[in-house]
Amino acid sequence: MATLVSPSRAVFLSLTLWFLCVAAGAQQNAPSKVIALRASRMLDVNGGSIVHEAVILIQDEKITAVGASLKIPAGAEVVDLGDATLLPGLIDCHTHLMARISDDPQGYGLTLLTKSQAFRALEGAADARVTLRAGFTAVRDVESEGSGYADVALRDAINQGLVDGPRMQVATRGIAAVGKYFPFDISPDLVDFPAGAQMISGPEEARRAAREQIGHGANLLKVYADWGTPTLTVEEIRPIVEEAHKSKLKVAAHADSPEGIRNALTAGVDSIEHGHEADHGAFELMKQKNAFWVPTIGYYFYAVDTAKSPQPHKHMQETLERTRQNISTARELGVKIANGFDPASAEDHGKNAREIIAMTKLGLSPLEAIRAATANASELMGWQDKIGSIETGKYADIIAVSGDPISDIGELEHVKFAMKGGVVVKNEFGAAR
Ligand SMILES: [Zn+2]
Repeated sequence: MATLVSPSRAVFLSLTLWFLCVAAGAQQNAPSKVIALRASRMLDVNGGSIVHEAVILIQDEKITAVGASLKIPAGAEVVDLGDATLLPGLIDCHTHLMARISDDPQGYGLTLLTKSQAFRALEGAADARVTLRAGFTAVRDVESEGSGYADVALRDAINQGLVDGPRMQVATRGIAAVGKYFPFDISPDLVDFPAGAQMISGPEEARRAAREQIGHGANLLKVYADWGTPTLTVEEIRPIVEEAHKSKLKVAAHADSPEGIRNALTAGVDSIEHGHEADHGAFELMKQKNAFWVPTIGYYFYAVDTAKSPQPHKHMQETLERTRQNISTARELGVKIANGFDPASAEDHGKNAREIIAMTKLGLSPLEAIRAATANASELMGWQDKIGSIETGKYADIIAVSGDPISDIGELEHVKFAMKGGVVVKNEFGAAR
Protein backbone atom coordinates (compact mmCIF):
# COMPACT_ATOMS: atom_id res chain seq x y z
CA MET A 1 0.00 0.00 0.00
CA ALA A 2 1.34 3.43 -0.97
CA THR A 3 2.30 5.83 1.80
CA LEU A 4 -0.42 8.29 2.83
CA VAL A 5 1.83 10.19 5.26
CA SER A 6 3.71 13.31 4.14
CA PRO A 7 7.44 13.60 5.17
CA SER A 8 6.80 16.43 7.67
CA ARG A 9 3.95 14.52 9.24
CA ALA A 10 6.21 11.46 9.48
CA VAL A 11 8.80 13.51 11.42
CA PHE A 12 6.09 14.75 13.78
CA LEU A 13 4.83 11.17 14.32
CA SER A 14 8.37 9.90 15.01
CA LEU A 15 8.96 12.67 17.56
CA THR A 16 5.67 11.91 19.26
CA LEU A 17 6.52 8.19 19.40
CA TRP A 18 9.99 9.00 20.78
CA PHE A 19 8.45 11.17 23.49
CA LEU A 20 5.92 8.47 24.43
CA CYS A 21 8.70 5.88 24.65
CA VAL A 22 10.83 8.11 26.85
CA ALA A 23 7.84 8.86 29.09
CA ALA A 24 7.00 5.15 29.39
CA GLY A 25 10.63 4.35 30.16
CA ALA A 26 10.73 7.00 32.88
CA GLN A 27 7.60 5.51 34.39
CA GLN A 28 9.13 2.00 34.35
CA ASN A 29 12.30 3.25 36.00
CA ALA A 30 10.50 5.06 38.83
CA PRO A 31 11.42 3.28 42.08
CA SER A 32 8.46 1.19 43.23
CA LYS A 33 7.20 1.04 46.76
CA VAL A 34 8.89 -1.27 49.27
CA ILE A 35 6.58 -3.26 51.54
CA ALA A 36 7.87 -4.56 54.88
CA LEU A 37 5.76 -7.45 56.12
CA ARG A 38 6.35 -8.16 59.78
CA ALA A 39 5.11 -10.83 62.22
CA SER A 40 6.30 -12.42 65.43
CA ARG A 41 6.93 -15.79 63.70
CA MET A 42 7.67 -17.21 60.26
CA LEU A 43 7.86 -20.87 59.26
CA ASP A 44 10.95 -21.67 57.23
CA VAL A 45 9.58 -24.64 55.29
CA ASN A 46 12.97 -25.73 53.96
CA GLY A 47 14.83 -25.54 57.27
CA GLY A 48 11.81 -26.70 59.26
CA SER A 49 12.29 -24.05 61.94
CA ILE A 50 10.48 -20.99 63.22
CA VAL A 51 12.11 -17.60 62.61
CA HIS A 52 11.22 -15.11 65.34
CA GLU A 53 10.54 -11.40 64.75
CA ALA A 54 10.36 -12.07 61.03
CA VAL A 55 10.58 -9.31 58.46
CA ILE A 56 10.02 -9.79 54.73
CA LEU A 57 10.86 -6.96 52.34
CA ILE A 58 8.92 -6.92 49.07
CA GLN A 59 9.28 -4.88 45.90
CA ASP A 60 7.74 -5.36 42.44
CA GLU A 61 5.87 -8.57 43.35
CA LYS A 62 9.04 -10.26 44.62
CA ILE A 63 10.74 -10.85 47.95
CA THR A 64 13.94 -8.79 48.17
CA ALA A 65 15.06 -9.76 51.68
CA VAL A 66 13.89 -11.97 54.52
CA GLY A 67 15.14 -12.62 58.04
CA ALA A 68 14.83 -11.99 61.76
CA SER A 69 14.59 -8.32 62.86
CA LEU A 70 15.73 -6.97 59.47
CA LYS A 71 16.19 -3.21 59.26
CA ILE A 72 13.17 -1.66 57.56
CA PRO A 73 14.19 0.91 54.91
CA ALA A 74 12.92 4.47 55.31
CA GLY A 75 9.73 5.08 53.36
CA ALA A 76 8.69 1.43 53.29
CA GLU A 77 5.02 0.60 53.81
CA VAL A 78 4.91 -1.52 56.94
CA VAL A 79 2.33 -4.31 57.24
CA ASP A 80 2.66 -5.47 60.84
CA LEU A 81 0.61 -8.59 61.61
CA GLY A 82 1.77 -8.78 65.22
CA ASP A 83 1.27 -12.14 66.93
CA ALA A 84 1.02 -14.26 63.79
CA THR A 85 2.91 -16.96 61.87
CA LEU A 86 3.90 -16.28 58.28
CA LEU A 87 4.09 -19.15 55.78
CA PRO A 88 4.56 -19.41 52.04
CA GLY A 89 1.28 -19.27 50.10
CA LEU A 90 -0.24 -22.75 49.95
CA ILE A 91 -0.45 -24.69 46.69
CA ASP A 92 -3.08 -27.21 45.61
CA CYS A 93 -1.87 -29.52 42.83
CA HIS A 94 -5.23 -31.12 42.09
CA THR A 95 -8.14 -28.74 41.69
CA HIS A 96 -11.10 -28.53 39.30
CA LEU A 97 -12.09 -24.88 39.68
CA MET A 98 -14.55 -25.16 36.82
CA ALA A 99 -16.47 -27.98 38.54
CA ARG A 100 -19.50 -27.48 40.74
CA ILE A 101 -21.03 -30.90 40.30
CA SER A 102 -23.75 -32.14 42.63
CA ASP A 103 -23.57 -35.62 44.17
CA ASP A 104 -26.77 -36.61 42.38
CA PRO A 105 -25.98 -39.83 40.40
CA GLN A 106 -26.70 -37.87 37.21
CA GLY A 107 -25.10 -34.66 38.51
CA TYR A 108 -22.27 -34.69 35.98
CA GLY A 109 -24.57 -35.13 32.96
CA LEU A 110 -26.97 -32.50 34.28
CA THR A 111 -24.12 -30.02 34.64
CA LEU A 112 -23.20 -30.52 31.00
CA LEU A 113 -26.86 -30.36 29.97
CA THR A 114 -27.83 -27.21 31.83
CA LYS A 115 -24.76 -24.98 32.15
CA SER A 116 -23.13 -23.06 29.32
CA GLN A 117 -19.36 -22.91 29.17
CA ALA A 118 -19.63 -19.15 29.77
CA PHE A 119 -21.48 -19.86 33.01
CA ARG A 120 -18.95 -22.53 33.96
CA ALA A 121 -16.17 -19.96 33.52
CA LEU A 122 -17.97 -17.57 35.87
CA GLU A 123 -18.41 -20.34 38.43
CA GLY A 124 -14.69 -20.96 38.06
CA ALA A 125 -14.01 -17.30 38.81
CA ALA A 126 -16.02 -17.56 42.04
CA ASP A 127 -14.18 -20.75 42.99
CA ALA A 128 -10.81 -19.16 42.21
CA ARG A 129 -11.63 -16.30 44.54
CA VAL A 130 -12.57 -18.47 47.53
CA THR A 131 -9.52 -20.66 46.91
CA LEU A 132 -7.19 -17.66 46.98
CA ARG A 133 -8.85 -16.27 50.08
CA ALA A 134 -8.37 -19.65 51.79
CA GLY A 135 -4.62 -19.08 51.42
CA PHE A 136 -3.99 -21.05 48.23
CA THR A 137 -1.99 -18.69 46.07
CA ALA A 138 -1.32 -21.24 43.29
CA VAL A 139 -3.18 -24.22 41.88
CA ARG A 140 -2.60 -26.88 39.29
CA ASP A 141 -6.05 -27.33 37.79
CA VAL A 142 -6.16 -30.85 36.42
CA GLU A 143 -8.87 -30.59 33.78
CA SER A 144 -11.95 -28.51 33.23
CA GLU A 145 -14.58 -31.29 33.55
CA GLY A 146 -16.44 -30.61 30.34
CA SER A 147 -16.11 -26.82 30.32
CA GLY A 148 -13.69 -26.94 27.39
CA TYR A 149 -11.02 -24.25 27.54
CA ALA A 150 -12.80 -22.15 30.16
CA ASP A 151 -9.84 -22.84 32.46
CA VAL A 152 -7.47 -21.14 30.00
CA ALA A 153 -9.80 -18.12 29.96
CA LEU A 154 -9.91 -18.05 33.77
CA ARG A 155 -6.11 -18.33 34.09
CA ASP A 156 -5.62 -15.51 31.60
CA ALA A 157 -8.26 -13.30 33.24
CA ILE A 158 -6.53 -13.78 36.61
CA ASN A 159 -3.15 -12.97 35.07
CA GLN A 160 -4.61 -9.80 33.55
CA GLY A 161 -6.06 -8.75 36.91
CA LEU A 162 -9.67 -8.96 35.70
CA VAL A 163 -10.68 -11.38 38.46
CA ASP A 164 -9.09 -12.51 41.73
CA GLY A 165 -7.60 -15.96 41.94
CA PRO A 166 -4.51 -18.05 42.49
CA ARG A 167 -1.73 -18.47 39.95
CA MET A 168 -3.00 -21.27 37.73
CA GLN A 169 -1.56 -24.04 35.66
CA VAL A 170 -4.36 -25.56 33.59
CA ALA A 171 -4.74 -28.96 31.94
CA THR A 172 -7.68 -27.92 29.69
CA ARG A 173 -9.92 -30.83 28.63
CA GLY A 174 -8.16 -33.93 29.96
CA ILE A 175 -7.69 -37.04 27.80
CA ALA A 176 -9.60 -40.29 28.41
CA ALA A 177 -10.40 -43.51 26.56
CA VAL A 178 -13.68 -43.49 24.63
CA GLY A 179 -16.51 -44.53 26.95
CA LYS A 180 -14.35 -44.41 30.08
CA TYR A 181 -15.09 -41.08 31.68
CA PHE A 182 -18.09 -38.96 32.69
CA PRO A 183 -20.89 -38.58 31.83
CA PHE A 184 -22.10 -42.17 31.86
CA ASP A 185 -25.55 -43.50 30.93
CA ILE A 186 -26.28 -40.86 28.32
CA SER A 187 -28.53 -42.07 25.51
CA PRO A 188 -26.43 -43.27 22.55
CA ASP A 189 -28.87 -41.35 20.34
CA LEU A 190 -27.38 -38.09 21.63
CA VAL A 191 -24.23 -38.42 19.56
CA ASP A 192 -23.04 -34.88 20.19
CA PHE A 193 -23.63 -34.83 23.94
CA PRO A 194 -20.59 -33.15 25.49
CA ALA A 195 -18.02 -35.24 27.35
CA GLY A 196 -16.09 -34.60 30.56
CA ALA A 197 -12.77 -35.11 28.76
CA GLN A 198 -11.43 -35.39 25.23
CA MET A 199 -12.20 -39.02 24.37
CA ILE A 200 -9.63 -40.77 22.24
CA SER A 201 -8.92 -44.19 20.79
CA GLY A 202 -5.49 -45.08 19.50
CA PRO A 203 -2.06 -43.40 19.55
CA GLU A 204 -2.79 -41.00 16.65
CA GLU A 205 -5.91 -39.60 18.29
CA ALA A 206 -3.95 -39.33 21.53
CA ARG A 207 -1.20 -37.33 19.83
CA ARG A 208 -3.74 -35.06 18.12
CA ALA A 209 -5.55 -34.41 21.42
CA ALA A 210 -2.25 -33.52 23.10
CA ARG A 211 -1.29 -31.16 20.28
CA GLU A 212 -4.72 -29.51 20.26
CA GLN A 213 -4.72 -28.94 23.99
CA ILE A 214 -1.18 -27.60 24.03
CA GLY A 215 -2.08 -25.36 21.09
CA HIS A 216 -5.05 -23.97 22.97
CA GLY A 217 -2.99 -23.04 26.03
CA ALA A 218 -2.57 -26.06 28.33
CA ASN A 219 0.19 -25.77 30.96
CA LEU A 220 0.10 -29.52 31.57
CA LEU A 221 -1.83 -32.50 30.24
CA LYS A 222 -4.04 -34.86 32.22
CA VAL A 223 -4.70 -38.47 31.24
CA TYR A 224 -7.02 -41.07 32.72
CA ALA A 225 -5.01 -44.29 32.92
CA ASP A 226 -7.85 -46.18 34.56
CA TRP A 227 -11.47 -45.88 35.52
CA GLY A 228 -12.41 -48.92 37.53
CA THR A 229 -10.22 -50.94 35.17
CA PRO A 230 -7.12 -49.90 33.18
CA THR A 231 -8.20 -47.77 30.20
CA LEU A 232 -5.60 -45.93 28.08
CA THR A 233 -2.79 -48.21 26.95
CA VAL A 234 0.93 -47.47 27.25
CA GLU A 235 0.94 -46.95 23.46
CA GLU A 236 -1.81 -44.32 23.82
CA ILE A 237 -0.26 -42.48 26.76
CA ARG A 238 3.25 -42.42 25.29
CA PRO A 239 2.57 -39.93 22.43
CA ILE A 240 0.79 -37.64 24.90
CA VAL A 241 3.88 -37.64 27.12
CA GLU A 242 6.12 -37.10 24.09
CA GLU A 243 4.14 -34.08 22.91
CA ALA A 244 3.96 -32.59 26.41
CA HIS A 245 7.64 -33.08 27.18
CA LYS A 246 8.65 -31.61 23.80
CA SER A 247 6.83 -28.46 24.91
CA LYS A 248 8.44 -28.64 28.38
CA LEU A 249 5.06 -29.50 29.94
CA LYS A 250 4.27 -32.26 32.41
CA VAL A 251 1.65 -34.99 32.35
CA ALA A 252 -0.55 -35.89 35.31
CA ALA A 253 -2.17 -39.31 35.31
CA HIS A 254 -5.34 -40.28 37.08
CA ALA A 255 -4.42 -43.82 38.15
CA ASP A 256 -5.72 -45.89 41.04
CA SER A 257 -4.93 -49.49 40.16
CA PRO A 258 -1.43 -51.01 40.18
CA GLU A 259 -1.78 -51.75 36.45
CA GLY A 260 -3.03 -48.25 35.59
CA ILE A 261 -0.17 -46.74 37.58
CA ARG A 262 2.34 -49.04 35.88
CA ASN A 263 1.02 -48.17 32.41
CA ALA A 264 1.15 -44.44 33.13
CA LEU A 265 4.64 -44.54 34.59
CA THR A 266 5.96 -46.78 31.83
CA ALA A 267 4.72 -44.19 29.34
CA GLY A 268 6.62 -41.52 31.30
CA VAL A 269 4.01 -39.43 33.16
CA ASP A 270 5.23 -37.05 35.85
CA SER A 271 2.65 -37.59 38.59
CA ILE A 272 0.21 -40.19 39.79
CA GLU A 273 -3.06 -38.67 40.96
CA HIS A 274 -4.98 -40.64 43.63
CA GLY A 275 -3.17 -44.03 43.53
CA HIS A 276 -5.73 -45.30 45.99
CA GLU A 277 -5.13 -48.98 45.20
CA ALA A 278 -1.38 -48.72 44.73
CA ASP A 279 0.74 -51.65 45.88
CA HIS A 280 4.38 -51.68 46.99
CA GLY A 281 5.59 -52.24 43.43
CA ALA A 282 3.69 -49.15 42.25
CA PHE A 283 5.53 -46.98 44.79
CA GLU A 284 8.87 -48.54 43.88
CA LEU A 285 8.21 -47.59 40.25
CA MET A 286 7.16 -44.04 41.24
CA LYS A 287 10.45 -43.70 43.08
CA GLN A 288 12.44 -45.16 40.21
CA LYS A 289 10.77 -42.78 37.73
CA ASN A 290 11.05 -39.80 40.09
CA ALA A 291 7.29 -39.26 39.78
CA PHE A 292 5.21 -37.40 42.34
CA TRP A 293 2.26 -38.88 44.18
CA VAL A 294 -0.79 -36.67 44.77
CA PRO A 295 -2.92 -38.76 47.18
CA THR A 296 -6.19 -36.69 47.11
CA ILE A 297 -7.45 -38.32 50.30
CA GLY A 298 -8.98 -35.36 52.14
CA TYR A 299 -12.44 -35.81 50.65
CA TYR A 300 -12.61 -39.40 51.93
CA PHE A 301 -11.34 -38.39 55.33
CA TYR A 302 -14.07 -35.80 55.81
CA ALA A 303 -16.92 -37.63 54.03
CA VAL A 304 -16.55 -41.09 55.57
CA ASP A 305 -18.71 -40.35 58.59
CA THR A 306 -21.55 -38.84 56.59
CA ALA A 307 -21.75 -41.55 53.89
CA LYS A 308 -25.42 -42.12 53.10
CA SER A 309 -25.26 -45.92 52.77
CA PRO A 310 -23.02 -48.77 54.00
CA GLN A 311 -21.41 -49.48 50.61
CA PRO A 312 -19.68 -46.08 50.08
CA HIS A 313 -18.85 -45.94 53.79
CA LYS A 314 -17.00 -49.27 53.57
CA HIS A 315 -15.23 -48.21 50.37
CA MET A 316 -14.08 -44.93 51.95
CA GLN A 317 -12.88 -46.64 55.11
CA GLU A 318 -10.89 -49.19 53.13
CA THR A 319 -9.39 -46.46 50.95
CA LEU A 320 -8.34 -44.49 54.03
CA GLU A 321 -6.69 -47.55 55.57
CA ARG A 322 -4.81 -48.37 52.37
CA THR A 323 -3.69 -44.75 52.09
CA ARG A 324 -2.39 -44.84 55.65
CA GLN A 325 -0.21 -47.82 54.68
CA ASN A 326 0.74 -46.21 51.38
CA ILE A 327 1.82 -42.95 52.99
CA SER A 328 4.10 -45.01 55.22
CA THR A 329 5.48 -46.86 52.15
CA ALA A 330 5.98 -43.59 50.24
CA ARG A 331 7.88 -42.08 53.18
CA GLU A 332 10.09 -45.15 53.52
CA LEU A 333 10.94 -45.18 49.81
CA GLY A 334 11.27 -41.40 49.55
CA VAL A 335 8.48 -40.90 46.99
CA LYS A 336 7.69 -37.19 46.75
CA ILE A 337 4.16 -36.30 47.86
CA ALA A 338 2.34 -33.18 46.64
CA ASN A 339 -0.85 -31.77 48.07
CA GLY A 340 -4.12 -31.96 46.11
CA PHE A 341 -7.66 -31.83 47.48
CA ASP A 342 -9.63 -32.62 44.29
CA PRO A 343 -12.51 -30.19 44.97
CA ALA A 344 -15.30 -30.59 42.40
CA SER A 345 -18.46 -29.38 44.15
CA ALA A 346 -19.66 -25.93 45.17
CA GLU A 347 -19.13 -26.82 48.84
CA ASP A 348 -15.57 -28.10 48.51
CA HIS A 349 -13.89 -25.12 46.87
CA GLY A 350 -11.96 -23.14 49.46
CA LYS A 351 -11.74 -26.10 51.84
CA ASN A 352 -8.43 -27.20 50.28
CA ALA A 353 -6.59 -27.17 53.64
CA ARG A 354 -8.57 -30.27 54.58
CA GLU A 355 -6.20 -32.29 52.42
CA ILE A 356 -3.16 -31.10 54.37
CA ILE A 357 -4.86 -31.94 57.65
CA ALA A 358 -5.98 -35.38 56.41
CA MET A 359 -2.43 -36.23 55.34
CA THR A 360 -1.22 -35.55 58.88
CA LYS A 361 -3.96 -37.81 60.28
CA LEU A 362 -2.74 -40.56 57.95
CA GLY A 363 0.93 -40.42 58.81
CA LEU A 364 2.72 -37.32 57.52
CA SER A 365 4.21 -34.97 60.08
CA PRO A 366 2.75 -31.43 60.01
CA LEU A 367 5.97 -30.12 58.47
CA GLU A 368 5.93 -32.83 55.79
CA ALA A 369 2.29 -32.05 54.97
CA ILE A 370 3.04 -28.31 54.74
CA ARG A 371 5.99 -29.08 52.48
CA ALA A 372 3.66 -31.19 50.31
CA ALA A 373 1.58 -28.02 49.91
CA THR A 374 4.49 -25.63 49.35
CA ALA A 375 8.02 -26.72 48.35
CA ASN A 376 7.05 -30.14 46.88
CA ALA A 377 4.02 -28.71 45.10
CA SER A 378 6.08 -25.94 43.50
CA GLU A 379 8.57 -28.55 42.29
CA LEU A 380 5.80 -30.65 40.72
CA MET A 381 4.60 -27.51 38.92
CA GLY A 382 8.15 -26.72 37.80
CA TRP A 383 7.83 -23.39 39.61
CA GLN A 384 10.34 -24.11 42.41
CA ASP A 385 12.28 -20.97 41.48
CA LYS A 386 9.14 -18.81 41.67
CA ILE A 387 7.01 -19.98 44.61
CA GLY A 388 6.85 -22.58 47.40
CA SER A 389 9.02 -20.90 50.03
CA ILE A 390 9.72 -17.45 51.45
CA GLU A 391 13.06 -16.67 49.83
CA THR A 392 14.70 -13.71 48.15
CA GLY A 393 13.83 -13.58 44.46
CA LYS A 394 10.58 -15.52 44.74
CA TYR A 395 7.09 -14.07 44.32
CA ALA A 396 5.72 -12.56 47.50
CA ASP A 397 3.00 -15.20 47.86
CA ILE A 398 2.64 -15.25 51.62
CA ILE A 399 -0.06 -16.19 54.11
CA ALA A 400 -0.40 -15.90 57.88
CA VAL A 401 -2.28 -17.69 60.64
CA SER A 402 -2.73 -16.79 64.31
CA GLY A 403 -1.07 -19.78 65.96
CA ASP A 404 1.69 -22.27 65.17
CA PRO A 405 0.65 -24.64 62.36
CA ILE A 406 3.32 -27.16 63.35
CA SER A 407 1.71 -27.73 66.76
CA ASP A 408 -1.84 -27.27 65.40
CA ILE A 409 -2.18 -28.03 61.70
CA GLY A 410 -5.87 -27.02 61.93
CA GLU A 411 -4.66 -23.40 61.85
CA LEU A 412 -4.43 -23.78 58.07
CA GLU A 413 -8.21 -23.89 57.88
CA HIS A 414 -8.24 -20.38 59.30
CA VAL A 415 -5.86 -18.40 57.13
CA LYS A 416 -6.25 -14.77 58.18
CA PHE A 417 -3.87 -13.03 55.83
CA ALA A 418 -3.09 -13.70 52.19
CA MET A 419 -0.80 -11.86 49.82
CA LYS A 420 -0.20 -12.76 46.19
CA GLY A 421 2.64 -11.14 44.28
CA GLY A 422 3.00 -8.47 46.97
CA VAL A 423 -0.70 -7.52 46.87
CA VAL A 424 -2.71 -8.07 50.05
CA VAL A 425 -5.88 -9.97 49.14
CA LYS A 426 -7.07 -10.62 52.68
CA ASN A 427 -6.11 -9.27 56.11
CA GLU A 428 -8.19 -10.16 59.14
CA PHE A 429 -5.50 -9.17 61.62
CA GLY A 430 -6.69 -5.59 61.50
CA ALA A 431 -3.07 -4.50 61.55
CA ALA A 432 -1.97 -0.94 61.06
CA ARG A 433 -0.77 -0.60 57.48
ZN1 LIG B 1 -9.68 -34.86 40.07
